Amino acid sequence: MSVLTKITEHVYWMPPGPPDRPSVCGVVGDRRTLMLDAGSSKAHTRAFLDALWAESAAHPSAVVYTHSHWDHVFGGAELGGQVIAHAWTAEQLIELGAMDWSDEALDERVASGHASPQHAANVKEELPSPRTVEVAPADIVFKDGLDIALGGVTVRVRHVGGDHSAESSVIYVEPDRVLFLGDCMYDSPAGVLTAELAFPLHDAILRFDADLYVEGHHTSVSSRADIEGLIEKMRLAEKAVRAGSAIGVPDEDTEGFVQAFRAARATAS
Ligand SMILES: [Zn+2]
Repeated sequence: MSVLTKITEHVYWMPPGPPDRPSVCGVVGDRRTLMLDAGSSKAHTRAFLDALWAESAAHPSAVVYTHSHWDHVFGGAELGGQVIAHAWTAEQLIELGAMDWSDEALDERVASGHASPQHAANVKEELPSPRTVEVAPADIVFKDGLDIALGGVTVRVRHVGGDHSAESSVIYVEPDRVLFLGDCMYDSPAGVLTAELAFPLHDAILRFDADLYVEGHHTSVSSRADIEGLIEKMRLAEKAVRAGSAIGVPDEDTEGFVQAFRAARATAS
């Protein structure tokens, strides 16, 4: 069971967990509380809400999404509050809500190559059959970004895009200097990273004067040095792939980045 950790004065973090539960955060202000991503199911959101209530006696009046992948949004309906999302995310929420999420439909999508076996297995484990998936639509839609004042703390949402999802937005919490990244730094669902999208994204991320970084599926909170190190590894991996050269003894991260940048070239050629 994931536990809630207070990482700064206003920010509470619930780390990721199986099968595909991402990081979720609560930002507690004097007047309002905001949830960052909603989690994978009503059960996941409920566990977060109960833990946040126990820790801070706060209940979020709204949730803001980083992107529309199921594991970040299927819990949204449990909140009973407003949903804030990028315009493209809002469109995807409608589509997700209209889809058939039965075991049969999931298996069909895997068979036709529209979804991975891992995706289907994760959905089945998170939401036992027979499942009803209620996808809360967006109430407030933004395009480039949005600032939300909660009382003593402000949340700045900014659209950044990237390979993982063109929708991706990051969420900066001031004055806590926390940057909630969602999955934006990861490769695409097809396993691809491109220099064209990744490098401008890195610049955008580093422009925030953040101290702590919360990644969607990373089990610890990262420092600025951690993120700079990760970006450096991506740059080295891209450079090696472009030059067709090998990296001496790549670590696990670097090896993954090499594969993703190589996949981009394979798709392009
Ligand atoms: Zn994602």
